[in-house]
Amino acid sequence: MLEYAPAPESRSVVQIAPSYGLFIDGDFTPGKDVFKTINPASEEVLSEVALGSPEDVDRAVAAARRAFETWSARPGSERAKYLFRIARIIQERSRELAVLESLDNGKPIKESRDVDLPLVAAHFFYYAGWADKLPYAGFGPSPRPLGVAGQVIPWNFPLLMLAWKIAPALAAGNTVVLKPAETTPLSALFFADICRQAELPPGVVNIVTGAGDTGRYLVEHPDVDKVAFTGSTEVGRQIARSVAGTGKRLTLELGGKAANIVFDDAPIDQAVEGIVNGIFFNQGHVCCAGSRLLVQESIAEQLLASLKRRMSTLRVGDPLDKNTDVGAINSAAQLARITELSEIGTEEGAERWSPECSLPDRGFWFAPTIFTGVTQAHRIAREEIFGPVLSVLTFRTPDEAIEKANNTPYGLSAGIWSEKGSRILAVADKLRAGVVWANTFNKFDPTSPFGGYKESGYGREGGRHGLEAYLA
Ligand code: NAD
Ligand code: MN
Repeated sequence: MLEYAPAPESRSVVQIAPSYGLFIDGDFTPGKDVFKTINPASEEVLSEVALGSPEDVDRAVAAARRAFETWSARPGSERAKYLFRIARIIQERSRELAVLESLDNGKPIKESRDVDLPLVAAHFFYYAGWADKLPYAGFGPSPRPLGVAGQVIPWNFPLLMLAWKIAPALAAGNTVVLKPAETTPLSALFFADICRQAELPPGVVNIVTGAGDTGRYLVEHPDVDKVAFTGSTEVGRQIARSVAGTGKRLTLELGGKAANIVFDDAPIDQAVEGIVNGIFFNQGHVCCAGSRLLVQESIAEQLLASLKRRMSTLRVGDPLDKNTDVGAINSAAQLARITELSEIGTEEGAERWSPECSLPDRGFWFAPTIFTGVTQAHRIAREEIFGPVLSVLTFRTPDEAIEKANNTPYGLSAGIWSEKGSRILAVADKLRAGVVWANTFNKFDPTSPFGGYKESGYGREGGRHGLEAYLA
């Protein structure tokens, strides 16, 4: 492997306060209890954050309710003005936000800088454009907002998931209370500051930090009209139960176990790049990750040799180094889950392989890993690992590939690698997955709807479809 000199991004572009309160009704107010958020690459404490109580959630929902009256009555062009402002400020502050996101989450700066932040800004620009065109969105001549949205997001793409939730909600005239994940609350708090900078009216966006209980108070709050959740299938199920029969609208974006299918006529080098991007991007903390590689038997040996060669060049380490490909695992808990499922993979008889790589002493790390000889019955082929671990299965015919790809409780995404357009279309048609990528993987765009089938959830985010979840 080539030796690279260290190329650290400057930490000084972001000022993190020693503590943060809750952002309610346009102001930061301290919480009674607090918790710490750490940098998972060093275990260093970054800041202390308020642990939202039921009373805090009440106040935030009440503020959002008051703000709804005037926010929803504004012309769409007025709401667009604020959303465009927010989008521009995000662009202006993108370097600061990218460093912050990498510090709190552990993702490589290369990704927060070149993927997360550009997509965050693009989402606000995109939905700003819809705000004054809602009568032409295909939901009737005068679609109405729903009211107060309670939104709960995970830690894998903190600011991007915030954008997916807040941009369409505001464009459609709703107000929001958002709870970020407990390991990555900081970028949402910086976003609160951006709302103030954009002079967004108080109460339109409220940020309540906390853990699972705070999220539960929020989604169970009787004055919330719409619940939007991204996270684990287990919590998604609980939320679906608690929302049932309340008249609240609900969208759920849950886990995945995507098949990345490589046919014998695929361009091998390109497919290898797509496989690597599909499972090692963001340490594999991606709901639509290509975590099951289905490779046609006749090319399996050749493809695996190329894949291993490519994996040997991945740089694992300091998220703020611009050459880093794979950063830190987001938390000790997630590392424990990845470690446990990987050990089960070995116990169940799959063969484990990782390139040689030295991991830092402090922080949470997991070497990029592949398992070969995996069968459909193995737990590593069925359960979401949510880490840099790829399960490799083989197939002989397109029908077998389709059957194996669909043999999962999930249905979020899939990938197809083939030179033949006709084969791509025929296979894509039979895959039960919300997104199917062809000769690429993990491509996102605000104009394109995203969401799942089966246990991956329901409802769509992004594109014109994404507005539907926020309109009556
Ligand atoms: P989680 O579902 O517990 O957490 C996601 C968010 O929901 C967090 O903000 C959390 O505070 C909140 N939450 C937790 N319990 C809640 C409740 N009862 N009511 C309302 N909100 C609640 O996910 P996790 O524990 O961080 O991760 C566990 C597994 O979930 C991962 O290993 C992975 O498989 C999966 N996951 C999927 C996604 C995704 O993007 N689909 C994201 C994160 C995790
Ligand atoms: Mn953190």
